[in-house]
Parts: sequence; C-alpha cells; structure tokens
Amino acid sequence: MMNLSKGTSSNVIAPGAVIGILGGGQLGRMLSMEAARLGYRVHIFEPEAGCPAGQVSEAEVNAPYTDDDALRRFAEQVDVVTYEFENIPLHAIETVAEVAPVRPRGSVLHICQNREREKNFLREAGIPCADFYVVDSSESLEMAMRQLNGPGVLKTADFGYDGKGQVRVRGGEDPSELWSAFGAPRGVLESFVDFTHELSVVCARGADGSTALFPVVENQHSRHILDFSIVPARIPEAAQAEARDLARRIAEALDVVGLITTEFFLTRDGRVLVNEMAPRPHNSGHFSLDACVTSQFEQQLRAVCGLPLGSTELLRPVVMWNILGDIWHSGEPAWAEVLRDPDVKLHLYGKGEARVGRKMGHICIMADTADHALERATQIKQKLLPA
Ligand code: AMP
Repeated sequence: MMNLSKGTSSNVIAPGAVIGILGGGQLGRMLSMEAARLGYRVHIFEPEAGCPAGQVSEAEVNAPYTDDDALRRFAEQVDVVTYEFENIPLHAIETVAEVAPVRPRGSVLHICQNREREKNFLREAGIPCADFYVVDSSESLEMAMRQLNGPGVLKTADFGYDGKGQVRVRGGEDPSELWSAFGAPRGVLESFVDFTHELSVVCARGADGSTALFPVVENQHSRHILDFSIVPARIPEAAQAEARDLARRIAEALDVVGLITTEFFLTRDGRVLVNEMAPRPHNSGHFSLDACVTSQFEQQLRAVCGLPLGSTELLRPVVMWNILGDIWHSGEPAWAEVLRDPDVKLHLYGKGEARVGRKMGHICIMADTADHALERATQIKQKLLPA
C-alpha cells in the first residue's frame, strides 16, 4: 500500500512548531489532539467561538473568513497552515498563503469545493465517474435530460450554496418546473448510478511525492448522513485495488500535500466510479485513530510538516458508528452501558448542544471480523436510539 521510496524533504517543520488549522470542528479537534501528541502546538481559526477544536488547542482566533487582517495575523503566528473544512473561500486561503505555507494548496480546495470543477477535473484526468452535464438554465437542463435519456441526480455546482442540494430526476419531468424548484444558479446533472456499495479511501501524500493509502472503507448512510463505516470493506479485492489506485492517481494529479479523501460507488456490474473528493481528513477515516498504526490525522500532520508518512496498516477489523444528537432524546446517553463492550472506543467532540442530526461523536468497535464488529455496533445503536 505504501510508496516511501523517495526519501523525505529537507524542509521539515519539526515538532515544537505551530500548526495553523482553518476550521474548528471535530476534524480540527482530532487533528489538534494528534498534533499535541507529536509535540506540536496548534492555533485554530474559526468564525464561531467555543468550537470543538479550540477547546483542545493553544489558541483560537474567532473572525470571519472575510477578515483579511485577522487571517494575516493568524498566519504570522504559525509555521504551516492546513484546513479541516471545505467551504473556506479561496480568497481566505490565498490571503493566508501570502504569509505562511498552506497545505494542501488553495487550488486543490478550489477544485474540490465545487462539483462542476471537480467533475471537469475527473473527466480531464481520465478518472471514471458518472456521466454528467453542467446546467445553468431550464433550456440547458432540458438538453441535458435529453442527452442523459434516463434517471439522474441534479446537484448544485457549489457545495457552499445554501440551497436545495440534490434532486432525483426520473427523466419524464418538465425541465422548467424542475429548474425553478431546484433554485440554484448552476448545477450538474449526473446519471443515476445503480450501486451496491459506497466506498471511500483516504490518501496521504507527502511533500516529496510519497503516498500512503488507508484501507478501503465501506460506508452506510442514514438520512444522507454517514452512519456506519466498515473496514475492511466487504467487496472483492479487485474493486479494492481499483479504488486505491484511483485515489492515488487523484492525489498525484492534484499534486496534493496533505490528505485527500475520495468517495466512490461500486456499481452492480463491478465498476468503481468516483463520486466526490475532499482534501482533508474525513468522517469515514475516523476508524484509523483506533484501528491503524497511524491515524489519518497524524498522517496529515506528517505530510504537511514534511515528515515521512507512517504505516496505514489495519490492526483489527473495525466499525465506526457516528453518534448524532438524536441519542440525547432523554438526557445524557448511558455511556457506561456503551463502554460495557471492552472493544468499544468512545470519542465525543465537546459540542454543547445536541441537536437532531448533529455529529456529536463516534464510537469504534474492533472485532475479529468486520461482520462481527457491525453486529455489535448495530446493537449499541439500537440500545441508544429513541424507540
Ligand atoms: P453526495 O452529496 O454527492 O455525496 O450524494 C449524497 C448521496 O446521494 C450519496 O451518498 C449517494 O447515496 C446518493 N447519490 C449521489 N449521487 C448519486 C448518483 N449519481 N446516483 C445514485 N445515487 C447518488
């Protein structure tokens, strides 16, 4: 899985240095905790005060991403900047990059934060993904529907657009009605993928071009939120090899220094298609904190600091279950009950308010097989969820 033959860069940012993280959510929190373990100090830049990452870091700056002065002052205090949040405006990244190195660089985030750019990148790089058409009017949607000639999914081009997100398209609808209901100024119409599995692969890439791939993860969603991540994925070895190969090709084509996570569909006829990418640690990679020699967060730090990448070996089969605010339905959940299983590791993100659908923490359960881990994770979930 690893390719560490090229040696390490001479521009090492050694432990003791200060890491700047844009974004203060749970990904930043876990990154900061791993940084502290490695002897780094961490400063967080996050618009909202009292964020999960700020609670465990040396400093927290609260300012909007449009405050150039605050961004520059933040960058002056740190040795390298990385990010844990996808919707950071490119201008903010560029402002920071005038003062301190930003890894992965802004152009990577710029591509990944917009579906149109992301899909065009995949097409140009020859990476397989669902057929797609860019649309910006009811006329272009009509043409795209005619060319697609079947079911599809209409998605907003910009992830940051606070609009309607995604619409399933059967094919026979009136394009102008569909377009006005959609509401976003630009979109991508994708063909509907008949998939059996959703997968993801976290790839780390060092400053010297070395890469390290984490095991392929099988993801199950509930109400469009990640529910279970199962490792190793219960799919044929050839599909796993294909997913890993594509993840590495994407990291190399984008010249990533840091992490990039790629999400895939495994189709009923055995093809592996890319759905989307995120140039940061990923919810589906949390299992690595408990079940791999090196976690995704440590790997991100090693990469952005110019250190050699660590082993991504899986120590035991594992299932991660996302803990949502829903389980606070009758007050604080019975954690002692959860921890009764000695193979459970509990992670809570320090968020004050437990809202329905809000990610509050996760658990990892290690077992002798992925199936056994999933059985036990499902039992815990059933115990904690409202009837
Ligand atoms: P996304 O926001 O693109 O990750 O999509 C959210 C979810 O919608 C995915 O996890 C899939 O379950 C489903 N989905 C997205 N795109 C497609 C597609 N082209 N065909 C079938 N299902 C899809």
